[in-house]
Amino acid sequence: MEDGLPVCDAVSTKIKNYIGGQLVEPNNDRWLDNYEPATGQVYSQVPDSDASDIDAAVAAATEAFQGWSQLPGGQRAGHLHRVANQIDQHFDELVKLESRDNGKPESLCRAVDIPRSSINLRFFAGLIEGYASESHAMPDAINYTLRQPLGAVGCISPWNLPLYLFTWKIAPALAAGNCVVAKPSEVTPMSAFRFSELCIAAGLPPGVLNIVHGSGTETGNAIVEHPGIKAISFTGGTKTGRTIAAKIAPTFKKYALELGGKNPNIIFADCDYEQMMETTLRSSFANQGQICLCGSRVIVERKIYDRFRKDFVERTKMLKVGDPTESDTNLGAIVSKPHYEKIMSCIELAREEGGTILCGGHSAQINGRCAEGYFIQPTVIEGLPSSCRTNQEEIFGPVVTLQPFDTVDEAIDLANDTEYGLSSSVWTSNIKRGHEVAHRIESGVVWINCWLVRDLRTPFGGMKQSGVGREGGLEALRFWTEPKNVCVKYL
Ligand code: NDP
Repeated sequence: MEDGLPVCDAVSTKIKNYIGGQLVEPNNDRWLDNYEPATGQVYSQVPDSDASDIDAAVAAATEAFQGWSQLPGGQRAGHLHRVANQIDQHFDELVKLESRDNGKPESLCRAVDIPRSSINLRFFAGLIEGYASESHAMPDAINYTLRQPLGAVGCISPWNLPLYLFTWKIAPALAAGNCVVAKPSEVTPMSAFRFSELCIAAGLPPGVLNIVHGSGTETGNAIVEHPGIKAISFTGGTKTGRTIAAKIAPTFKKYALELGGKNPNIIFADCDYEQMMETTLRSSFANQGQICLCGSRVIVERKIYDRFRKDFVERTKMLKVGDPTESDTNLGAIVSKPHYEKIMSCIELAREEGGTILCGGHSAQINGRCAEGYFIQPTVIEGLPSSCRTNQEEIFGPVVTLQPFDTVDEAIDLANDTEYGLSSSVWTSNIKRGHEVAHRIESGVVWINCWLVRDLRTPFGGMKQSGVGREGGLEALRFWTEPKNVCVKYL
């Protein structure tokens, strides 16, 4: 026991829903198996919740909203800081738990996932304390804009950065005064479950946050369709986003969708070569390539194409695919067997389309406890046209393609030649050209001479088929509130 609460017992944990401040089993007593990707073994059970559990969660959130929305922002911020303190106090445990549930290296959880989860809460706690709305003065009247919370709202998050993206959604929603019904991915439910225990330990008022586990098609859909839910924030695949948008459209609920990507990484010959190479390895293969911001199409100026290909392939071959618990592992396991099979079929498709596999292209056999796990060698492919499926469809795994270009126009044409528009990277020492490409490229986020450098105040999201709306900073607080203009005539 820690904090008087049960600690997740890895082998036989039955994950529980968190509704109205209580940890409860699903009403229907149905459960799904939760796998450890590195071993391929079932190690816990996830509630397979249905609409009745969502009804209970929405009722709890609606009731809690009266009190929570009336608290001064500073008091809500205090609650978020206390939950963040719990994350910090249980840091090592959360690192191990997230790595085990997702398959990603513990080192990545330690450097990125868990610290960022706590930072998300603290960032929006700070932002709400300083949040002010607008006023517009007229000669004889003044307008002021109230930004009021919406009520009970829904947050649906994916498996690739489980606690990181979960907190990224719920923190601004709660800070703005809403009460939340959240569903983590059924594939990686464990850190959200532990988070619910930490919320109890932190004294978060009952019903302010409710976490309901289950499948997307039943539990997630029940959140989307519930009439008591006033807005939906969703991060996941473009196909799922389209289904959700179609369901929401006739109800006029607010929605924000953070969807898939097929991000270009444009490399000019005049770049800082070593910095580019080191970062390109990360942007290609971090988290086994399962970050929506990973650069999966590496577009290289022909002048340095041969040198780049040789060095990149050499360095990729040196990456260690292995047990996520080992400190020198660069790539851990793919998140699930179905996703592993999907990535392998994409590699097969690349072969059929005529691509040359420069390295990888097959699974990685890890001996010992990970012998049954889902591991794939980082894979580099060349020789494919921009129009082929391999260069058009999101793979979301450790697979990148190389394409050469000769001119800036050609680089931009290649970069923009997909239905996606999430993020891009540009490598050049020519500042004018860097800005030019940033202006002409179709993506919501552009990095010049870097990747994944994040300032949480900036707007985050995609254009085209990569999403609708923006998260981050004031954009998030605006999404989670309804503006109401009040006009007072004083003459
Ligand atoms: P999915 O779209 O399959 O699922 C995302 C979430 O939605 C999960 O919680 C899922 O539940 C749930 N869900 C699935 N179907 C429905 C439905 N019909 N109604 C409501 N909820 C539903 O995505 P993945 O989990 O596979 O995540 C990977 C995708 O997420 C990639 O495409 C990636 O690019 C994208 N992504 C985008 C980011 C961005 O910021 N733009 C960031 C991170 C990832 P369950 O898993 O239980 O089925």
